[in-house]
This record gives sequence, structure tokens and C-alpha cells, in this order.
Amino acid sequence: MFILDEDEKAIRDTARGFADEFLAPNALEWDEQKHFPVDVLRKAGPLGLGGIYVREDVGGSGLRRLDAVRVFEQLATGCPAIAAYISIHNMATWMIDSYGDAAQRDRWLPGLTSMELLASYALTEPGVGSDAAALSTKAVRDGDDYILNGAKQFISGAGATDVYVVMARTGTAGARGISAFIVPAETPGISFGANERKMGWHAQPTRQVIFEDARVPAANLLGAEGEGFRIAMNGLNGGRLNIAACSVGGAQAALDKTVPYLAQREAFGSALVQNEALRFQLADMRTELEAARTLLWRAAAALDADAPDKVELCAMAKRFATDAGFEVANKALQLHGGYGYLAEYGLEKIVRDLRVHQILEGTNEIMRVVVARSVVGAA
Ligand SMILES: Cc1cc2nc3c(=O)[nH]c(=O)nc-3n(C[C@H](O)[C@H](O)[C@H](O)COP(=O)(O)OP(=O)(O)OC[C@H]3O[C@@H](n4cnc5c(N)ncnc54)[C@H](O)[C@@H]3O)c2cc1C
Repeated sequence: MFILDEDEKAIRDTARGFADEFLAPNALEWDEQKHFPVDVLRKAGPLGLGGIYVREDVGGSGLRRLDAVRVFEQLATGCPAIAAYISIHNMATWMIDSYGDAAQRDRWLPGLTSMELLASYALTEPGVGSDAAALSTKAVRDGDDYILNGAKQFISGAGATDVYVVMARTGTAGARGISAFIVPAETPGISFGANERKMGWHAQPTRQVIFEDARVPAANLLGAEGEGFRIAMNGLNGGRLNIAACSVGGAQAALDKTVPYLAQREAFGSALVQNEALRFQLADMRTELEAARTLLWRAAAALDADAPDKVELCAMAKRFATDAGFEVANKALQLHGGYGYLAEYGLEKIVRDLRVHQILEGTNEIMRVVVARSVVGAA
């Protein structure tokens, strides 16, 4: 698992090449302009980045989760915000591949895997985030359609994406009353809130998605009625790994900027990189990232193997890697002194982008809830 073969290196290098050529040179400008680069995302599709672990008959790459986390780490070295959007697109696309029927797979997946169509994942609501099983957006059956009413909050890509995987209530209270739907953006009755003003992730929009008597064909029900929460949670296992990989990649980029900076910056008569206290910090940063990467690969292998402990391993990896990634990036900023605080050095953007990884796809407190459940069991 830890020594990459030639194929694995080629996959990793393709992602790095894309990040170096298309993401890194533009990341600061997109951040400043709050620009979502749809044209660049479309270039990722032909490289196989739109359906990394989606089956090949619909244009997916048919790779493993282990490959995916390596891909997302490399993409995030160029821009964590765009890498993270690609991760959400992959999560939604995988849900349609895994739970969609033949007609749904044929209808949606060729466009999504090629990234001609972009996807969003809509679970959170204004009133419920962590306690997602309490969601209240309603889907009521009416003939051959469902009619959706309610609002989704914090939806990544919303307003710019084409396909929404929406979790809505079709039954009674609790997780078993929730169903998942594939909802095209142009459905009458859907509208979008303003692009939220936020700390980081400026290169992708975050908006409310509002449903007012939005009529969705019953043929767009993903899986069976009542299966939506399970589908949403299964999507999140891989989503958590990918977001965690984006933290490792962003933090690695911050560390990679720091070593040459300390080598050329002088204080008290010598280059800062000669200062042992600072060298120890670099050693710790490198160690933290390697530990995060190792746990991430371990969790990805467990997900690939459908191991019984995959859920808690994904939660452990998400919690550990997103905390480590943020701390390492923040230390890298500190080691740049005042320059780390300036936008043009790129450190403060990485710190801002990585901060939200500790909050979304299940907060790091909720990751502890999941892990604690497995530690304590039914006791
Ligand atoms: C930029 C951004 C993009 C996002 N993108 C998406 C998206 O594309 N799709 C989507 O569906 N959602 C998205 N989200 C929503 C995100 O997943 C939620 O914000 C997150 O799950 C937390 O929910 P909440 O904000 O309602 O916080 P709350 O659930 O209200 O939690 C508030 C605090 O209480 C803590 N807490 C809650 N319950 C417990 C508990 N049982 N034990 C211990 N602590 C607890 C939380 O950890 C948190 O610190 C996004 C959020 C942001 C900020």
C-alpha cells in the first residue's frame, strides 16, 4: 500500500500535472475574484477526474478509493478549494453510479464523468446540519412526480452546477423517512440564495437551494423510498477521505513553500533554516502530515475492501488529517512571519481554505461521535 507501482505513480502524476498547469497559477486570482472556474473543471473530465471511482461503462475511471485520495492530495497542492469541489462532484456522481438504476446511470453519468455536467450534494438545511436525520425538506408523491418544498443550506457549487443529489423527507420522522433524488438545476420551482460571504473556499460558490413546489419525476428517485439517508451517509465515507486528502495536499504545499523561504530569509546573522527551533518545527510538520497520509491510505484501503471498520476509519482519518492539515498550514504561515499574512505569498489562502474542512462533511466533533460509538459499542 505504501510503495506506489508505475500505474499508481502515473495516476498521481496526472493529478499533479493538472494542478501545476491549471490550478496553482490561477488559485490566488480565483480566490480574490471569487471566481468558480467552470472552464477549467471541464478540462478535468477528459483526464478521468469527474468519476474517479465510478464504473467505466459510463465514462468513469474505475479506480480505487486509495487512488482517489492520492489524486485529491495532488489536486489540492494547486488549489484546495477547487480540489474540494471536484471531491464533492465525485461523491454525488458515485452515489448515482452506486444506487441509480440503469436508466439513471445512462441518463446522468456520461455527462457527469466527463464534467460536461457538474454536481452538488444537498443534505444540510438552515435548521439542521450535524443532526441531518432531522431534515425537513419534503417530497410528496403526486402521480408520476414528487413535489419538493423546503430549503438546503451551504450547498457547494449551487447556482453554477447542473445536477443536485437532494435528500428530502418522503416518510415519517427520522432517518428511515428520507429519500434521495436526482434534481436537475433547471427544474421549475428551484431558486438559489446569494453566494455566501465566507472565510475561505472563495473559488467555489456556496448558496442556499430553495424548493417551492419543485416537480421532480418519480423516475429521479435514487434507490428506494426511505433509503436516502443511508445513501447520503455512504457517500460521505468517501467524501470525508477526499476532503481529508485535500487538507494533506494543501498543507504539504504550505510546507513546501516554507523550506525555501526559511533558507533565503536571514535574521541574527544567518539563514532562518539554520535555527534548530525552527528546524524542529519543520520536522514535526512533516511527521504530522506523514501520519495523516498513512491513516488516510489505511482508511481508503478499508473502504475499498468494504471492511467492517470502514466507517470509523474514515471518521478517524477525516478528523486527524483535517486537524493536522490546518495546524501545519497555520504553522507554515507563522514561519513566514509578516509575509505569511500577505495574500501574495499564498499561505493565508491555504489556511482559510483548510479551516472549513474541520467543519463540513461532518464536523470533527461528529467524527468523534462516530469513533466513540465504535469504541464504546452498545455499552
Ligand atoms: C463552505 C461550506 C460548504 C458546505 N457544503 C455543503 C454541501 O455541499 N452540502 C451539504 O449538504 N452541506 C454542506 N455544508 C454544511 C456542513 O456540512 C455543515 O455546516 C456541518 O455538517 C455542520 O452543521 P451545522 O453548520 O448546522 O452545525 P451544527 O450541527 O449546528 O453544529 C454546531 C456545533 O455543535 C457541534 N455539535 C453538534 N452536534 C454535536 C454532538 N452530538 N456532539 C458534539 N458536538 C456537536 C458541531 O460539531 C458544531 O461545532 C457546507 C458548509 C460550509 C461552511
